[in-house]
Amino acid sequence: MTQGHMTPEHSIYIHIPFCVHRCAYCDFNTYAGQESLIPAYVEALCREIEIVGGSLFQGGRGEGKLPAHTVFFGGGTPSLLSAAQFESILKTIRASYNLTPDAEISLEANPGTVTLDSLRDLCGLGFNRISLGVQSAHPDELRQLERIHDYFDVIEAVTWARRAGFDNLNLDMIFGLPEQSLDRWQATVKLILGLRPEHLSLYALTVEHGTPFGRWAQRGLLSVPDPDAAADMYEWAGRALEAAGFEQYEISNWAKPGRQCRHNLQYWRGQPYLGFGAGAHGCSSGLRISNSLRIKTYIEHLHPDHLIPNTPFPLSPATVNQTKISKRVEMQETMLTGLRLTCEGVSAEDFADRFGVQMWDVFGREIDDLIGLLLLEWSGPVLRLTKRGRLLGNQVFMRFVD
Ligand code: SF4
Repeated sequence: MTQGHMTPEHSIYIHIPFCVHRCAYCDFNTYAGQESLIPAYVEALCREIEIVGGSLFQGGRGEGKLPAHTVFFGGGTPSLLSAAQFESILKTIRASYNLTPDAEISLEANPGTVTLDSLRDLCGLGFNRISLGVQSAHPDELRQLERIHDYFDVIEAVTWARRAGFDNLNLDMIFGLPEQSLDRWQATVKLILGLRPEHLSLYALTVEHGTPFGRWAQRGLLSVPDPDAAADMYEWAGRALEAAGFEQYEISNWAKPGRQCRHNLQYWRGQPYLGFGAGAHGCSSGLRISNSLRIKTYIEHLHPDHLIPNTPFPLSPATVNQTKISKRVEMQETMLTGLRLTCEGVSAEDFADRFGVQMWDVFGREIDDLIGLLLLEWSGPVLRLTKRGRLLGNQVFMRFVD
């Protein structure tokens, strides 16, 4: 790995795989009823952060510490950790990486798992962005999703977050819920806009195999809106958010000016990131890596008795998969993730600078076809999705993989 000022700024993702209850649609790597493992997990996390940062076995990098400019705690439910546990993780990050003074430090939290005091503590520790999983403003929809909170918890969490000092707030919502009508979705959007967040993420429900929703759907017990109805919800929300002063910058994300999530932009721009925790992924130095999924195995891998000295960067003792990223794959991924950015798209100049070949020479046929289908368009030197392409993103992305 190159060090010093040439090293690109990394992003750091910390996975917290604990939830109070497993929601009916969830297929994330998270576990309910294992909270007793949190202290050992936090210790393992700190060890992994130190090892990859090079400070444990390689004598510390001093000036050469890896620069990082965003930290994101996702899950799971990170807000189940105590302030002391967050403090020790952040302290370890600051000791092992060169965290920029204006770093974005985000926390995913679930309403119903935060208090005014806990949010004040988090603000005091340096968290400057919070993302609340709201999903719906309707009690029956929240019950159906098996969320643990009601809408009153949401209002409370937002009020407390503001009072604690958070001025950068994201709310997550889901549309296309079973039996959901456009009216009901509109009511959710209007209520949520009333909470005045800086950022909104809107996801279409996907019924995943292996979840309770997946099983109910298989037995014909779940009726989700058809794709046209879900598209109407998406388009209506896009117009409502724009009218409220939000700019769409990614297929599922809208922000007030200057409030885009820097951490997620790092992924979409194909810039390097490290992932710590059970099942976390990283991508750096030409490698894509992932950790063991299960909490106990992860903790075991990082037990002091099992560590192997000099794990090469960016691997960690918990790494179970590593894939070298070929130039071809990197180019494909640049198209896949870059085209998610609805305004920024993929710049032909940046592509040529990065890969030494013209985007046109590599993907000319795919681009031509997709422009013909009115799914992609050029805006000056930038290739991006059309409005129609935003609805049919998967059809576009499929064309850029072998
Ligand atoms: S809170 Fe989030 S991560 Fe946890 S079970 Fe529900 S959807 Fe999954």
